[in-house]
This record gives sequence, C-alpha cells and structure tokens, in this order.
Amino acid sequence: MFDKILIANRGEIALRILRACRELGIKTVAVHSEADRDLMHVRLADESVCIGPPPSTESYLNIPAIISAAEVTDAVAIHPGYGFLSENADFAERVEESGFVFIGPRPATIRMMGDKVAAIEAMQQAGVPCVPGSGGPLGNDDSENLRIAREIGYPVIIKAAGGGGGRGMRVVHSEAALPGAIALTRSEAAAAFGNDTVYMEKFLENPRHVEFQVLADEHGNAIHLGERDCSMQRRHQKVIEEAPAPGITMEQRRRIGERCAQACRDIGYRGAGTFEFLYEDGEFYFIEMNTRVQVEHPVTEMITGVDIVREQIRIAAGEPLAYRQEDITWRGHAVECRINAEDPETFLPSPGRIETLHVPGGPGIRVDSHIYAGYTVPPYYDSMIGKLIAHGDSRASALARMRTALSEAVIEGIRTNIPLHQRLLADASFQAGGTNIHYLEKLLEG
Ligand code: ADP
Repeated sequence: MFDKILIANRGEIALRILRACRELGIKTVAVHSEADRDLMHVRLADESVCIGPPPSTESYLNIPAIISAAEVTDAVAIHPGYGFLSENADFAERVEESGFVFIGPRPATIRMMGDKVAAIEAMQQAGVPCVPGSGGPLGNDDSENLRIAREIGYPVIIKAAGGGGGRGMRVVHSEAALPGAIALTRSEAAAAFGNDTVYMEKFLENPRHVEFQVLADEHGNAIHLGERDCSMQRRHQKVIEEAPAPGITMEQRRRIGERCAQACRDIGYRGAGTFEFLYEDGEFYFIEMNTRVQVEHPVTEMITGVDIVREQIRIAAGEPLAYRQEDITWRGHAVECRINAEDPETFLPSPGRIETLHVPGGPGIRVDSHIYAGYTVPPYYDSMIGKLIAHGDSRASALARMRTALSEAVIEGIRTNIPLHQRLLADASFQAGGTNIHYLEKLLEG
C-alpha cells in the first residue's frame, strides 16, 4: 500500500479522500491555494503545500506546481478527486512520467472517454446501448447529414466530440435548420474545445438521468455497484441524487450493469468509473463515461456498503478488487442533497463567513462537508459546501430522514439552498419518484 498520497483537490472531496487515507494508514499531503489555508483537510493533513494564488487556473489546475509539491513531500500517489484535473489525460500522463501513481484510469483511457465519438464507438462494440445517432463524426456533406438526420428522425442533437459541462450542443427540429446548426456547433466547438469534430444523436425529449457505478482492477476484474438517478438538475447541474433509481428492476440493473462491467473488461478500464445513461420509455441510452469519482458516490456507498474511494486507492496500488459481483447486494434507499452556498431563489453564489453551524445527525444520516463554524466560504470556487445523505430501509424512509435532517441543519452567515431542498422534498411528484431531467427547471419557472 502507498506510504503517502497527495490530494490534488479542495473542499469536501479532499476531506473525503483524506478520511479514506487515514483509515488505510496512509499519510496525506494537502495542496491548497492562498485562499484555502483554512480548509478542514489542510488542517488535518500530515503535510500541506500552498500551490498558488486563489484562481484555480493558477493553483488547482497548475500541473507543474502540483507535481513539484508531490516531489518535495515524497508523496507516492496523487488522487485528483472530481473536477479540476481529474479527467485531464495530460495531467495523468505527467503524473506517471514524473514517477508517481495516478489514482484513476490509464491516461489513454481518459483520453478516449474525453472524445465522445471514440467513447461511443467503444461502447457500441462492447454492447452497451447507445442513443441512435451518426455513429461517428459528421462530414461536411449537407445532403449526407440530412440523410442521417432523416434516418434518426427529428428532433436531433448536434454535439461536440470534445464537449463537456453541458456545453457544445444544439437541438435541431427541422431539415431547414440542420446545415446551419452543424456549422455553428462546429465553429463553437473549435473555439471552445480546440476540436471541431461534431456528431449527431436522436434528441430524447423527456429522459431521466440514470448512471451506473463500476469498479475495475488491473487484473481484469470488473464489477458494477448498480445505478443512481440524478434527474433532479438545474442547468445540467445535479441537485439531488438517489440510489437505487426509482422503478428500475433488478433485471435491468443486472443486465445494464453487467454490460458496463464487460465494457470495462473490454477496454482494460482501471479504477472507479461511471456510465451515464439517458433513460426513456424503459430503454437505456449511453451518453458518456466519467473516469473519476462522482460527487454523488455516497448514495451508492450507503446502499452497497462499498467504500468507493478506498477501492480507488486499493486498485491504484495494484491490489485486486475486494469484491466479486455476487458479493454486491443493495440494501434500502439513499438520497443526497447537494448543499450550496447560494441564494435559494436567485441561485447567486453566497460566499462569506459561517457564523453558526449545527450539523444534523441520527440514524441513517451522513454529512460529507468541510465547513465548520468560523469558516469563510471563498468566492473563487464551486459553491457546493457539502452533501447531506440519508439512508433508510425504503425510499419513503430515506426521504423522511432527509426531511428531518434538513429541518435540523443550521447554517448562519451565508445563504444556502436548503429551502430549495425542503421544497423539493415536499413535492408530490418528487415523492412519487421518476421525474425527468426537465422537472426541476419547469418547477422553478412555474
Ligand atoms: P457533458 O459532457 O457536456 O455533460 P453529455 O453528453 O453528458 O455532455 O450531455 C449533457 C446533458 O445534455 C445530458 O445530461 C442531457 O440533459 C442532455 N443531452 C445530451 N445528449 C442528449 C440527447 N441525445 N437527447 C436529449 N438530451 C441530451
């Protein structure tokens, strides 16, 4: 096992990784920006290194600064967390070239999954169901593109192969609009992602977002941990996640989960990963793979009992998976609310000092957060300040526990989106389960 791990992230996930390291008896190095000296995990880490000024481009995205921090502290491995450099194949490569272990997939795998056309081709070969589409990059021949769209059926969506974060996509409803939309998406993609490759998919009108968690080791073993529903989104940002996904049968779970695990074996995947699907009318459609730990990983941990971050570390150290597929069972239901420092109505960020804090507790409640009374939320980064997770024997029990926990939480000095969560937890459609990805935005408009 590793002697020392450098945590190349901040906030709650940095603390989550530190906790896993401590449990495994691994020493930790925290790297932080000048604005983040007071982060909880910086205080708890064995060592800490300031890697630059507040803007993340000069600190958490500063590859040379992170590599030199690993060098001066004699760290053996680097955990990238989520966001920042976690899906940057060049970073993973630099980490390995510098003699450190990257806690994640091989750089070539990250690169392939970052190219959505390549990812979809690999998934089709592995038998993972994909959205009907062009099955490859679009050329410049308008009549050929019109033919492809006609075959798929309108509406279609034009997507950038190098896109991310919900950007680089355009929905097309008619033949007349298609050539212009392709040209526009292509030029935007070239400017935003340095890659003008675009492809076409059927646009699904009212899907849910259902994703499968996988774990794969270097010895050819791969398993799935079932699915999560992350349909409650605003501007492509997940707000509430849950596991299992309402209404998904054990037969669907096993069938799609096994396809994902098999795809991991086929491509030689290593580490934790997530297969994202759109789910509509009982069918799953793969859209992309995330090659890192997800914000919402705790809901899967709560119902399977598997510590996903610990497994990531064990896998990176070359150990075989601690579980076989038949060891994985799913118990009860878990739901996660992302707590953001933002105005619950305008959604404007609300950084500042937390004057009073009371953290909820009780049976089935888990809080993953780096905040404490007296902590100042800096204005430079993502507004998420923690995650509240509730587990129960049933979905109704998990939701009841979540409602109680939200009512107990006290965070004073900044505004948070807790009132929004309370509104959603009281909403009849959410309570019934299975709302689609447009539900939250429609609710907020109405
Ligand atoms: P990104 O990497 O930018 O997140 P994704 O491919 O995951 O891109 O798509 C982001 C979101 O865009 C999806 O969660 C979904 O809401 C929407 N989307 C993408 N492809 C389709 C599609 N074929 N039909 C309907 N919505 C889609």
